[in-house]
Amino acid sequence: DSILTGDIQLDEEGQDSVLRPRSLHEFQGQSDLKENLDVFIQATKARNEALDHLFISGPPGLGKTTLAGIVASELGVNFVLTSAPALEKPKDLAGLLTSLPEHSLFFIDEIHRLKPTIEEMLYIAMEDFEMDIIVGQGIGARNVRIPLPRFTLVGATTKPGSVSTPLHTRFGITIRINPYTHQELQSIIRRSANLLHIAISTEASLLLAQCARGTPRVANRLLKRVRDFAQVHQKSEIDQAITQLALQKLQVDHLGLEEQDRYILRTIINVYHGGPVGLQTLAIAVGESAESLEDFYEPYLVQQGLLMRTRQGRTATELAYQHLGFPITKSLDS
Ligand code: ADP
Repeated sequence: DSILTGDIQLDEEGQDSVLRPRSLHEFQGQSDLKENLDVFIQATKARNEALDHLFISGPPGLGKTTLAGIVASELGVNFVLTSAPALEKPKDLAGLLTSLPEHSLFFIDEIHRLKPTIEEMLYIAMEDFEMDIIVGQGIGARNVRIPLPRFTLVGATTKPGSVSTPLHTRFGITIRINPYTHQELQSIIRRSANLLHIAISTEASLLLAQCARGTPRVANRLLKRVRDFAQVHQKSEIDQAITQLALQKLQVDHLGLEEQDRYILRTIINVYHGGPVGLQTLAIAVGESAESLEDFYEPYLVQQGLLMRTRQGRTATELAYQHLGFPITKSLDS
């Protein structure tokens, strides 16, 4: 059973639910993490308890929501999803928590964005499985503490550093999902191709894996687009040639950068002489929100050694100049 609340989008492009793994076994890669989780799940089931509160961090599209759903289904408990921005008022949280079946997994996405009042309610709920509600109005209003069912809070975030210490320390299990290796992405692509009923050659799956930015969501998206090209070109298999053609048409380069990534780097180089330029200024210049620049674009550019984040701002590296074919016109270490 799953209940959807708030504005979480589970089905990117409508078809993602087909590709979403349903068990730990189907969840590719991340073997150490899966092994540990499996132990916690088995032990919790044997004791017939609720799992300890679980904190999952990692960049977008790496499988935080998917993994939480899998944990719920392996435990055989209810899965209830919401996101911090959807919890506006204490009554939003109270409504959800009081209606949870025993031992449910209660997933809050973007947990770093909780309002302080909601966060304080969660402290008591997580620790004592109780909640304060206000009964009555005006002068007669009083606080009543009510019991809650035992539940597991799963907090997911792309920004673990922005989660307050009191909240963070209330989670018994902490997991960080790191970007996937090319090999892991290749097996994700092979699995997805299978589910989409299309054949793919080993070379083609490797090529896609190399362009997938360490991210399963990107891998699946690229696969679906390449499948479109294969279909229109009447190929029964996705091979290297059609993959190369599709990537070229999609303007995805061999590092997996798309046009907007290159535009961000070009802007730093052309407009701000290579940087440093502040986040807000850069965001306006490239027409993105500071948040999407920081959460979505920058991590991969930094990881690839194309962008540096310094206290003064963002700087394009020598590698960025090379990758975009710019001559290096200034001393980069000045
Ligand atoms: P997040 O919550 O971290 O943003 P999701 O859980 O929504 O990421 O994952 C995005 C998509 O990537 C999922 O729909 C799923 O199809 C795919 N995916 C993520 N992790 C894996 C994995 N380990 N194996 C196979 N597919 C995965």
